[in-house]
Amino acid sequence: MVKPMSDDHPPSLRVAEQDFRWADVTLRQYKDEDAAPFKTVSRQVLFSDPKLAGELRYFEVAPDGYSTLERHDHMHAVMILRGAGKVLVGDKVHDVKTHDLITIPSWTWHQFRPAPGENLGFLCLVNAERDRPQLPSSEELAALRADAKVAAFLDGTG
Ligand code: MN
Repeated sequence: MVKPMSDDHPPSLRVAEQDFRWADVTLRQYKDEDAAPFKTVSRQVLFSDPKLAGELRYFEVAPDGYSTLERHDHMHAVMILRGAGKVLVGDKVHDVKTHDLITIPSWTWHQFRPAPGENLGFLCLVNAERDRPQLPSSEELAALRADAKVAAFLDGTG
């Protein structure tokens, strides 16, 4: 027997509004201020429902901002929806643009940074139940920075 939809079921249509906002979706801060280092990132949860074991979120990083440098067991599938920039995946820095798809494997360091003067907006698909991100130790950060391209990326000069 199929159970009837509950009242808190997501709507069948969430209308896209101006400036990468969606109807009845709250614009939130990316993370709690103290949780991890990041700069000028917003978060909108576009889809979350217990009947599907994933969540679809939209993040936007303002010019000169960056997402947290982190790793975790869960994966991300990311599609760029706005602007262009760079993403660190493991020890590689990739240029990314609108509609590029990025896969972040388990336990892989990652960070997103917009190109100069651009907002970088992206959809991120994750497991609804997921582990907490880990931040790099000073040794791990030093190991990442041993690569000049990675160091330039982390300094926001790459
Ligand atoms: Mn992550």
